[in-house]
Amino acid sequence: MVAEVIYGKQLAENLREEMKQEITTLHEKGVHPKLVVVIIGEDPASKSYVKGKQRASEKVGMDSDLIELPEDTSEQDLLDLISRLNQDDTVHGILVQLPVPDHISDQKIIEAIDPSKDVDGFHPENVGRMLTGQDTFFPCTPYGIMVMLERAAIDVEGKHAVIVGRSNLVGKPVGQLLLNKNATVTHCHSRTKDLKSHTKQADILIVAAGRPGLVTGEHVKEGAVVIDVGVNRVDGKLTGDVDFESAQEVASHITPVPKGVGPMTITMLLHNTIKAAKRIHRV
Ligand code: NAP
Repeated sequence: MVAEVIYGKQLAENLREEMKQEITTLHEKGVHPKLVVVIIGEDPASKSYVKGKQRASEKVGMDSDLIELPEDTSEQDLLDLISRLNQDDTVHGILVQLPVPDHISDQKIIEAIDPSKDVDGFHPENVGRMLTGQDTFFPCTPYGIMVMLERAAIDVEGKHAVIVGRSNLVGKPVGQLLLNKNATVTHCHSRTKDLKSHTKQADILIVAAGRPGLVTGEHVKEGAVVIDVGVNRVDGKLTGDVDFESAQEVASHITPVPKGVGPMTITMLLHNTIKAAKRIHRV
């Protein structure tokens, strides 16, 4: 078997085309969805992520602001900025690029963002809503994975989903979203014994560990769906957590790195910002 490759990049482009049209319609109604991205410090990876987010929002016709703050910005100054953005009626989505410098508490920052503008879906109120199966802003990468599965016509109900990773950013929320859609969910992590014995049972295997090549074809059950979330730079090249060649021989579907999950993350951020604007303006 050679797996069908699910290209998130193509799907993301299609979805962004749909969003462009939706934003034009919202403009006609006097609603201008706006995303504000805040970055603190000079981390090159973070800078490249926020530039990507801003470029993508501009491309779909969304208003966007990038606020770049110096590394030594105090926690209080950042909290004051968030408070102003919370009160600004022209702002619908607020994203503070994580990680923030060590002298700032990321949890305090996450909790300071108005849940109705929390387009990253990290505020405990939104996490709680997701946990209890309510509609809310879902974290962008997990949400992107769910949309990829749906658009590839992969029904998750009753399937055994095994997730390698349990971070608040990816592993836990994707497990929760799968559970909400009636999958049976197993999480593996760094203390899991005999990883392969778990991954081999997966109908849907989601790998979000940040360990290049952790999962190979030997870890995959014949016909499984493999979603590689990992983004690693090895010898200057982007690579996932899954050894694509060997896994492709066994899986029924597989996502590549790059051009897989990555482009869906930004797309869902745009989706959440449009959703926030529609909710705030009740359109
Ligand atoms: P993270 O916070 O470092 O979490 C990694 C998780 O993997 C942890 O739960 C860890 O277990 C587990 N893990 C690490 N080594 C393992 C091993 N050998 N066996 C089993 N589990 C292991 O990372 P993250 O933020 O979730 O991100 C994961 C990967 O996805 C990274 O490569 C990141 O760059 C990528 N990512 C991609 C996107 C995208 O848009 N494509 C978005 C976000 C993240 P413990 O909990 O026990 O430590």
